[in-house]
Amino acid sequence: MKKYEHIFFDLDHTLWDFSTNCAETLNELYAQHQLHRFNIVLSEFIISYRQINDSMWDDLHRGKVTKEEIRNLRFARTFHLLGLQESDVPQGMDEQFISICPTKSNVFPHTHEVLDYLAQQYVLHILTNGSSDTQFVKLKSAGLDHYFKEVIHADESGYMKPDQRMFDYALQTAGILPHQCLMIGDDLYADVLGAKNAGIDQVFVNRHQIKHEEILTYEIDCLSTLKTFL
Ligand SMILES: [Mg+2]
Repeated sequence: MKKYEHIFFDLDHTLWDFSTNCAETLNELYAQHQLHRFNIVLSEFIISYRQINDSMWDDLHRGKVTKEEIRNLRFARTFHLLGLQESDVPQGMDEQFISICPTKSNVFPHTHEVLDYLAQQYVLHILTNGSSDTQFVKLKSAGLDHYFKEVIHADESGYMKPDQRMFDYALQTAGILPHQCLMIGDDLYADVLGAKNAGIDQVFVNRHQIKHEEILTYEIDCLSTLKTFL
């Protein structure tokens, strides 16, 4: 007998391949703004940006920075990390990143196949801390929008994962109780422990096989494994 009726998916780094889409965007910005003139190579630019962006998102989940600060400061901090002046950041690059990156369509292996399979048995939703303006574009660009009944984002709920109120809002929106659903995400802290704290079973998508000591419902390193137990 099927245990769950609804599944909540995180989007970035779980289904939508943020790193690849981000690298493609940075590649375009690097060329357009001729960043080679600062004697930085593309790979360094991408690695530094990721480092800054990832750490700012971790800070966001812990309430230390706002989304607005991430958008406005990540290139300045990337340039600083590369030994450049923050004032060297080309005008408008933050906005360009926001408008280009969500139009990229790379998703992780087996995304469409697994969603096709799950959509036949479960009601699927997106539960994301990303901004509403970018998440809808990402879903459409990647051809994922038709799989999901609700796209629940932090802007709408007023809370972010791992805050239990974000999960409560999601349950309320879907009209269900915790035992009726499963949360699938790549972020141990925000998605998985957040869901666990809200009484929701979880799947940790641990592609990099990071070590931890948490007791979780399921843990996978590839989306295709979902078909073995769902
Ligand atoms: Mg994620």
